[in-house]
Amino acid sequence: MLVKRLAATLLAVLAAVGVQVAAADPATAAPRVRVLYYDASQAREFVSVVHQGAQIWNSRVTNVRLEPVPAGRTPDIRVYADNGWPRAYPTSLGNGRWYMGREAVNDGYHPPRIAAHEFGHLLGLPDRRTGLCSDLMSGSSAPVSCTNAYPNATEAATVDSNFRASVAVPAREFVWVR
Ligand SMILES: [Zn+2]
Repeated sequence: MLVKRLAATLLAVLAAVGVQVAAADPATAAPRVRVLYYDASQAREFVSVVHQGAQIWNSRVTNVRLEPVPAGRTPDIRVYADNGWPRAYPTSLGNGRWYMGREAVNDGYHPPRIAAHEFGHLLGLPDRRTGLCSDLMSGSSAPVSCTNAYPNATEAATVDSNFRASVAVPAREFVWVR
């Protein structure tokens, strides 16, 4: 009788431990990287610069990765080119579209910086018109001569934190205006 009760207790303890382990698993597992598929096929002469912008982010953040969309899959992000100003229309974190605008390119703004900046909006970053070239999200408030296309450490950390928490970002328009 005692043996039976001990066995039952042991089973109960094991079950409790088992439940605990199962419950702890997702929390202790490495954070899942969110992959965002972008479609650059309509970016005309800027296709390679769009890929460059994606690679820049991939080299600086760990919780999200930008990948060219495979055939047959719906992209999260669509990239276009037109004669206007570069601009982004995020609809939610990691979703939406942006434009590589020829007007800013013709004015001399560094195309990889524009591409990485507009991707930055899709990754949940707002414009910060600091005028500093070291800030990617200062956009066109930095001098035309600015060729920095990389987010600074704070910008990269904010993106990682956005995707760790899956923050909600309001749908809005961001335009590369001076
Ligand atoms: Zn912007």
